[in-house]
Amino acid sequence: MSRPFLSALLALLLSGCGSLAGLKLLAPETHGLESVSPSLYVEIGTDSETRRRLLEDIDRAEHAVEAAYGSVQSHPVVHVCLTESCYATFGGHGSRAKVYGGRLILISPHGANWHYIAHEWSHAEMLSRLTLAAWWSLPQWFDEGIAVAVSDAPENSEAHWQFLIAANVPRPTREALTTFKSLSQWDDAVGHYGEKKNQERKAKGEPEIRPVYTAAGHELRPWLAAVGREGLLRFIADLNAGAGFASLYTSHSDPTTW
Ligand SMILES: [Zn+2]
Repeated sequence: MSRPFLSALLALLLSGCGSLAGLKLLAPETHGLESVSPSLYVEIGTDSETRRRLLEDIDRAEHAVEAAYGSVQSHPVVHVCLTESCYATFGGHGSRAKVYGGRLILISPHGANWHYIAHEWSHAEMLSRLTLAAWWSLPQWFDEGIAVAVSDAPENSEAHWQFLIAANVPRPTREALTTFKSLSQWDDAVGHYGEKKNQERKAKGEPEIRPVYTAAGHELRPWLAAVGREGLLRFIADLNAGAGFASLYTSHSDPTTW
């Protein structure tokens, strides 16, 4: 196996669940996708207007990552499915998008816009900038909160947070959020707070809710605003140098807004 293939394989294995189906992204053209550019594959049958828009979305997502991190070190290939069956083929279930390691982004029919590309790209960028040890020590809620802030997705906006409060929708406290450290703890919380039931809500005409991702954005937006790009880069450097997350992170969110 070639080195690029081996490193892609390692990245896939590191990314956890869905990895086996995700391996198909290493040979997208044998599983119903076709290349639009070196950084974009789409499902066969995608119309030319959508292809053009997706290329623009990738540009916009890259600018968002660059604005947050100062430069872009990761260059993931974006794979866009416009049907659920395509998404499931590559290991996607129930989510809008996912990233396998730092190299392969998979976008669902509901996530085909720059926000979700930027979200997954932020995960890829964080992974590319951290040592393996630092990456393992990074809590999932922090990585997600940065991705939510970078993506600026309306689904996880401050306006959605205020809606959740007004509608009295159960949502994690700040203390609870910071216990969602591993990917499985995060995933359990997303299920516990009902973020996996949005299809059913939609079918009943009820508003969709995203309390966990939105809580992470609510915590990290003020942090990013306070520390700035330099603060984020210093944080990454310190984490790589072996500093513990808890000693580096000081919340800048307003406790009264939780
Ligand atoms: Zn994420």
